[in-house]
Amino acid sequence: MDCIFCKIVKGEIPSKKVLENEKFLAFYDINPIAPIHVLIIPKEHYEKFNDTPNELFSEMAAFIKEVAKALNITDYRLITNNGSNAGQEIFHLHIHLVSNPSGKLKWPKLT
Ligand code: AMP
Repeated sequence: MDCIFCKIVKGEIPSKKVLENEKFLAFYDINPIAPIHVLIIPKEHYEKFNDTPNELFSEMAAFIKEVAKALNITDYRLITNNGSNAGQEIFHLHIHLVSNPSGKLKWPKLT
């Protein structure tokens, strides 16, 4: 059975898209933790960062910069939770892009 983000890629589950190309998709997180919270995923399924080919991740880096441009932001944080103990809940690689255009993001203690 397809994972939830594969279903979003196929349009079987709705999402609020920011940007898309043939390999990647950026859409708003359903439960934002910052004024801007976007998820960036490869359309191909990889469980997590550690399983993702370096070449694909390099292309994804370029796409992420396009997403920031589309959002008209220069200051943002990228997060990927790699594995359940790191906080990963959905096992389809995703990068969280979070930003607060009107101020500083906090840097909370995580343990
Ligand atoms: P993680 O804990 O790193 O696996 O993050 C999963 C993220 O996916 C969370 O921030 C959720 O709010 C988000 N999420 C779950 N379902 C959806 C959905 N249908 N559309 C957008 N974001 C989602």
